Amino acid sequence: MVKMTVLASGSRGNSTVVSSSRTRILVDVGLSCREIFKRMAAAGEDPRTLDAILITHEHQDHVQGLAVTARKLGIPVYFTEPTHRAWMRWMTPQKKMTYAEWLAARKAAMEASAVPTNPEMDDREAFEEEHEELAAISEIKVEPEKDPCALPGVEYFSAGQGFSVGNISVTPFTIPHDAADPVGFVFEAEGVRVGLATDLGYIPPNAKRHLNKCDVLMLESNHDLDMLRDGPYPWSVKQRVMSRVGHLSNLAAAEFLETEYDGGAAYVVLAHLSENNNLPELARVSAERALRDRASLLANKLLLATQDVPLESIVL
Ligand SMILES: [Zn+2]
Ligand SMILES: [Zn+2]
Repeated sequence: MVKMTVLASGSRGNSTVVSSSRTRILVDVGLSCREIFKRMAAAGEDPRTLDAILITHEHQDHVQGLAVTARKLGIPVYFTEPTHRAWMRWMTPQKKMTYAEWLAARKAAMEASAVPTNPEMDDREAFEEEHEELAAISEIKVEPEKDPCALPGVEYFSAGQGFSVGNISVTPFTIPHDAADPVGFVFEAEGVRVGLATDLGYIPPNAKRHLNKCDVLMLESNHDLDMLRDGPYPWSVKQRVMSRVGHLSNLAAAEFLETEYDGGAAYVVLAHLSENNNLPELARVSAERALRDRASLLANKLLLATQDVPLESIVL
């Protein structure tokens, strides 16, 4: 049995649970830990049974509660390396210094490093001692236990290279979006294939390939082009959303569903709908029209993921 529960979807937070009979994965943690646990409980899921967290990209609406949730559950986090680094930069507040302070800290650091090193000290000790001195000089607190980026475990994956978590095999694939190294995922377990792609400016050929032959397809349907054009965002933001590294419009999602999608999914979930530049009915009608010739009572049940309430679990 494979189960997918979308806990939240949209620009205020994204998180989805994908589970097999043996393994449970949380994809993105775009809500606070408290809210994730609350929504999981409401959906009949027990957070303590999660095995791993997978991250698509480092935007805030996908990582908001990551550190707290991972630490609370003591489970590993799977990133690509560039995404992990970008997340750490985002988590580490920049210390503001005047030029005079910076100069004084640098001078003191140079003097400190001029002290002859003890030849009996190994590299690690030397590094730690020097680090402590530098930290004292620049007044930056180095307390590993309070490191905001500390995680119980970090596992790196690369787009295009499959890996497994328990009995779920995961294929990450590159998507075009303005983040360090964003990915979509295909999950496969017990003969069921789940494809997931949100936050993408367009659907490149490799993503189209991965999003076919799925039993559950979760696809972004972010905005209605007219609503975005006439909407409240400044022009620069509109351009960003519409760009090839922005978000997928209802029209682009529908074009894929109509022309290059195989029509084989039992469930198509429209996701990451904009609250300002879309209406659920516009997204639904657009996708329904595209699927018209393919939809039957059994296949292609169309669902809309929402921001504030978990979507009813899909079980296959
Ligand atoms: Zn994003
Ligand atoms: Zn997003």
